[in-house]
Amino acid sequence: MNLSDPILALGAGESGVGSALLAKSLGARAFVSDAGEGKGPGVAELQAAGIDYEVGGHRFDEWPEVSTVVKSPGIPESAAVIKECRERGWEVISDIEYAARAHRALGHANPVVAVTGANGKTTTTSMIDHMLRHEGWDVDCVGNIGTSWSRRLAERVSRNEGEAQATVIEVSSFQLDGTNTFRPDVAVLLNITPDHLDRYGYEMANYAASKWRITAFQTPADHLIYNADCEWTQRMLDQHGTSAQLLPLSAERNLDEVMRDGRGGGLDSNDNSQFILQHFNSFSMTIQKLAMQGKHNLFNSMAAGMTGRILDLRKEGIRESLQSFEGVEHRLEFVQEVNGITFINDSKATNVNSVWYALECATTPVIWIAGGIDKGNDYSTLVPLVRDKVKHMICLGKNNAPLHAAFDELVESSWDVGSAEEAVAKAYELGQPGETALLSPACASFDLFGSYEQRGRAFKAAVRRL
Ligand code: ADP
Repeated sequence: MNLSDPILALGAGESGVGSALLAKSLGARAFVSDAGEGKGPGVAELQAAGIDYEVGGHRFDEWPEVSTVVKSPGIPESAAVIKECRERGWEVISDIEYAARAHRALGHANPVVAVTGANGKTTTTSMIDHMLRHEGWDVDCVGNIGTSWSRRLAERVSRNEGEAQATVIEVSSFQLDGTNTFRPDVAVLLNITPDHLDRYGYEMANYAASKWRITAFQTPADHLIYNADCEWTQRMLDQHGTSAQLLPLSAERNLDEVMRDGRGGGLDSNDNSQFILQHFNSFSMTIQKLAMQGKHNLFNSMAAGMTGRILDLRKEGIRESLQSFEGVEHRLEFVQEVNGITFINDSKATNVNSVWYALECATTPVIWIAGGIDKGNDYSTLVPLVRDKVKHMICLGKNNAPLHAAFDELVESSWDVGSAEEAVAKAYELGQPGETALLSPACASFDLFGSYEQRGRAFKAAVRRL
C-alpha cells in the first residue's frame, strides 16, 4: 500500500478513530465502519474531524475504493465482515501495523520499544515510560495501554511536533495478529501463558504464534528481551528462531545459568538479594529497593531495566526510576487497611497466571474474592497456593460453579455474592486483623460489571465506605 491510499477502518473505537485521523493527517481518505450503534465517543470525534463513517452495519457497496482494511483488535478473524474483506482480496492489518508503516514513511527513526506478554504488559510499559521520562526524554507511550499509536502520530504530524525520542507501545496478541512488517527496535516478550484461548481455537500454539510475531520481523540490529523460564517462549525460540539479539531474563535463577552470548539478566550468585543485568557491562540493583515487589514485578523491573540499558540510559537513572515507579491502578493496588485487614485491588487479574503471582507474593492469610466470566480456566496450578494461603473464598460472578468445584475442599468457607459491596462486606465480616482481602478474580468482569476498571473502582469505593 501507499500511504496516500484510502483506508477502511473497521470499528469506531480507539484504533479505528486513531487510524482514520492518521490517514487524514497523511492526506489519505479514511472511511470508518462500525456494526454497533455508534454511541461511543469515537463517532462524535469522526464527525468533528469530517471523516466519513457508517454505524449499525457494514455496507460494502457504500465504501470507497479500498484495498487496505485496518481492523479493530476487538473484531475476531472469524467475523463475517473479515471473511468478506479477505475474499475481495483486501489486505487486513491492525492499527499497530498501519502506524508502523506511517512511522517509517514519515522518516521517524528513533527507537520503538514494544511490550507484549500474557501478563505484565501495562505495568512494564508504564515502567519503561516512567524511566525514559525520568531521564527527560520526549516519549510517546501508546497502544493497548490507552492512546493508539496512530492517534499520537496524527497529532505529531498535524501539530508539526517532529518525532518522539522514543515510542513505547503495549501490544496485545490481537494487534500482533494483524502485523506483517512491524519491527520494534526492542521487543519485550514477558511471558506466554494461557489467555484469550477462545479467540485462538483453544490452542496454545496459535496464541504463542501470535505473541512470537513481536520478533518475527526483527533484524540483527534489534533486541529481544524474553523470559528464560517461560516454556512456550523457549518452544517458539527453538522452533522459529529470531534474527534479533537475545537477552534472556530470569527472576528465579542465577545470571550465569541464564545468559546467552554473555548477555541476559538473573540473580547475583554471590548475593541473592541483588539482580544483575549484563549487556556489554553489568548493572546490579538490590531487589528490596524496587518500588514494585513480588516475583512477577522483579521480572517486569528487570525487563524495564534491560530496555534502559539497551537505550543507554544512566545506570543511576534506571535505579532511581525503578525505585520511584508508583504502580498502575487495579494491579495489586493497595486500597486501605480497615481494622487490621488489608484490602488489595487486583481487578486486572483476569486470568489464572496473574492470580498465581498475586497469591504467590501474599505473606498473610488471604480472603480471596474471585469470579466473573471464566475464559476456559484450568485452575489446577492454583491449588497448592490456595491450600497454603487462602482461608475463605468469596465468589463474585454469575456462574461460580467452576470455582466451587476447584477450591471448596481447600478453604475453610466459600460464599457467593452478587456485588462488589456484598463481597467487601463479607470479607470484612470474615477477616481477622493481619489478614488480606484480595480481589484477584482470574476471570473477565462482563457478567456483573462493564469492565475490570469498573469492578476495581466499585471494590475500592465499597472498601472506603466500610
Ligand atoms: P497486562 O497489561 O498484560 O494485562 P498488567 O500489567 O495490567 O498486565 O497486569 C495484569 C495482572 O497480571 C495483574 O494482576 C498483575 O499483578 C499481574 N502481573 C503483572 N506482571 C506480571 C508478570 N510478569 N507475570 C504474571 N503476572 C503479572
